[in-house]
Amino acid sequence: MRSVSPARRRALLAVAGLCLSAAFGASHAAAPLQVVASFSILGDIVREVGGDDVSVAMLVGPDGDAHEYEPTPGDAKTLSAARVLFVNGLDFETWMPRLAKSSGFSGLTVVASKGVAPRKFAAPGGTSDHGHGHDHDHDHDHDDGHDHKDGHHHGDADPHAWQDLSNGVIYARNVAQGLAAADPAHADAYRQRALAYIARLQALDAEARKTFAAIPAERRKVVTSHDAFGYFGDAYGVTFIPAMGVSTDAEPSAGEVARIIGQVKRERVPAVFVENISSPRLVQQIARETGAKVGGTLYSDALSKAGQPGATYLEMFEWNVRQLAGALQP
Ligand SMILES: [Zn+2]
Repeated sequence: MRSVSPARRRALLAVAGLCLSAAFGASHAAAPLQVVASFSILGDIVREVGGDDVSVAMLVGPDGDAHEYEPTPGDAKTLSAARVLFVNGLDFETWMPRLAKSSGFSGLTVVASKGVAPRKFAAPGGTSDHGHGHDHDHDHDHDDGHDHKDGHHHGDADPHAWQDLSNGVIYARNVAQGLAAADPAHADAYRQRALAYIARLQALDAEARKTFAAIPAERRKVVTSHDAFGYFGDAYGVTFIPAMGVSTDAEPSAGEVARIIGQVKRERVPAVFVENISSPRLVQQIARETGAKVGGTLYSDALSKAGQPGATYLEMFEWNVRQLAGALQP
């Protein structure tokens, strides 16, 4: 092996690594970098930037709800074998600190949203403080954020930053930096792939802005299940009315539902959308009682399974733009 060129040697080692990983689990030096992503959307970004140089395991998979996730013993095992852990941050993965501790994970943790301007949960009607006893506060600005602290697991910052593609660019940069830090030998490859991927994110971002700018402002309003589209709304000029508020597991009160129905009728909201991670029941009820059309399914916090329209971050985003624009067009 001494006289073999570095590239050839690496190829041979990679083949050996594959054989070894089949027999003993991936542990060979030439095997891809073992990394973990907390949820599917981030996992796809890591896959794009990491290419063949990384092997990505995802904890919360397609169509999964990361807000309410319960880690398994298998997750701890996966994490303990990883060199890098990618998380969204912004209090999205409230279950992660405990899992990381119990797994004995000692690698590098990369917060993908680092550098994003965090949005506060503040949409009137987007609160989840049913039973809280301060309904009269709904018409105010909520700039103190306290109305939202009702025992759910979220913080004040909105974690769904990936719903703005310019934040997706920040995620991709952070992912490339993290991979390069953990695996300097492939730093150039990570940087190159990130640049190519960022160009695709920026092209779709420009297309999305153009698409929504062509729809009359008064029609750019939709109802969704939970408050996952605040960054999308800010970036592309669409108002999202979240029927369930911030939460994905609690039912709003009858009074809260009646208030949303009133708003949908009053503001002539053209369409309601279900999400791939939430129950469609409430949104369908709102559609029935208001005459708004059900626009379809949006991918909020997770990709679709392979073979469905939202199997990658770019595909899910493009799908959401098309579904929304199609329903809001006059
Ligand atoms: Zn969410």
